[in-house]
Amino acid sequence: MASTEAVHTIESLGIGRAYIYQEQDKLTLIDTGLTDSAERILAIVEKIGRAPADVRQIFITHHHNDHTGSLADLVERTGAQVLAHKIEAPVIRGDRPPAKPDANVLRSILRPVMGSAAQPGASARVDRELEDGDEVDIGGGAKVLHVPGHTMGSVALFIPKHRMLFAGDAAVSTLGLGPPAGPFGMFNENREQAALSFKKLAALDFDRAFFGHGKPLDGEAATLFRRAADQLD
Ligand SMILES: [Zn+2]
Ligand SMILES: [Zn+2]
Repeated sequence: MASTEAVHTIESLGIGRAYIYQEQDKLTLIDTGLTDSAERILAIVEKIGRAPADVRQIFITHHHNDHTGSLADLVERTGAQVLAHKIEAPVIRGDRPPAKPDANVLRSILRPVMGSAAQPGASARVDRELEDGDEVDIGGGAKVLHVPGHTMGSVALFIPKHRMLFAGDAAVSTLGLGPPAGPFGMFNENREQAALSFKKLAALDFDRAFFGHGKPLDGEAATLFRRAADQLD
């Protein structure tokens, strides 16, 4: 990685994580945390010596509130372009209600605790609708991977040059590595597809992995993904 490039993990957003991908000419925000996270995210932008206007793009992995909660706020304060999959875009804009998560898991006793995370955040602009295989201008060319299941328009970001994967919620490292399970699995729209998407990620070649939930993996990440994918059969 060129010395000017770095990934900053933003924790303490209540539920989940967001990331700043720092490059010399721009910052890219990957997800935006729950509502009221903008202040905390912009404080980190300032801490690394950059201005809100340096945030040129915001890549949204999927519509859940713990990823889009502060999107509208951050768009207003940075002027960034918003990128999201074409299936998620109408939900993020507020033009279409989100799909219902799996009915059985909705009855979970954890639902009242986690319920707000399944709602989309305040409606926000989406400037570019993404599809599988699209290239975006992050880290010398990042590849968009459509990884449906958790939500039908979930996307991950693969940066081949730096052997990095931003998995969104298509993979979590909270209760062991795998597709969302336990409290995070409650909001899967299609559990079988989520498992297939996890396998799709496991077939890639990368060293580092960053998640919406759970600690990033730093080194041999793909090997750990493959081992976890084998357990899914
Ligand atoms: Zn989610
Ligand atoms: Zn999440």
